[in-house]
Amino acid sequence: MSAETPGFHVSHPSARMRERRSLGKLLEPLTAADLATGNLFFSPLPEFQRCCRTFQIPKYVFIGPPGGGTYQRLGLFGGIHGDEAAGSVALVELLRRLIEDPRPATGYELFVYPVCNPTGYEDDTRWPRGGEDLNRAFWRNSSEPEVLLLEHQLEEFRFDGLVSLHADDTSEGLYGYVAGDVLTRHLLEPALAAAETFLPRNHTGRIDGWPAERGIIEDAFLGVLAAPPTQTPRPFEIVFETPQLANFDQQVQAHLAALLAILKAHRSLQAHAANI
Ligand SMILES: [Zn+2]
Repeated sequence: MSAETPGFHVSHPSARMRERRSLGKLLEPLTAADLATGNLFFSPLPEFQRCCRTFQIPKYVFIGPPGGGTYQRLGLFGGIHGDEAAGSVALVELLRRLIEDPRPATGYELFVYPVCNPTGYEDDTRWPRGGEDLNRAFWRNSSEPEVLLLEHQLEEFRFDGLVSLHADDTSEGLYGYVAGDVLTRHLLEPALAAAETFLPRNHTGRIDGWPAERGIIEDAFLGVLAAPPTQTPRPFEIVFETPQLANFDQQVQAHLAALLAILKAHRSLQAHAANI
């Protein structure tokens, strides 16, 4: 991709990100006062060891206003690849905004995991320290501690929907993967449309090696973060990707717009289903 490509403003993400390599700093915008509001809870996963140090995967739970029906429980995951920090920043920003105006979360319990790979986040690397690609290891008898801890969460909470945020340095535009519930495509389409305010969509017929249509891929690599194989009915599962070489802040805005669009679209699909 050329730096002159219209719609892209290539900054120096490595320089920017080095400032963001502290997990504490990333989570700083979520203050003790926010946690005292009664809507937001901090509940990190159990500690684990990597290379003689102890780490924790942070988790926040945000309870939205009641929506009339049963609460939908969503799992929102960022930083599975440690060098894709825009999704992590977007999840913290989502929570910040919901504290100020919880209405977009009406009818939802949001389980937010902004950094699923804490050592990769610290190191600005795709992989965890001394480990394999976490996003190829789910439900494959992996012994990676992050995978075991997240699998436990997926088993325990049986989410109605999962969204994973990523960034792809080989794509010049936004795209995503859909899996699980057959209606998932109707959530990703509005997410891509909303995110296009900030970055262009990848319209090529093949993305990341898969056939794609309007930036949507209906396939998945083996071992990506997903609901337990035994879970039925299947939840919606979305992997949302921003072009990693694009401006960092625009990627954050694109992720945020996509998340808000998914919340809105899923709520209206639920309301429609309730009326059938
Ligand atoms: Zn990724």
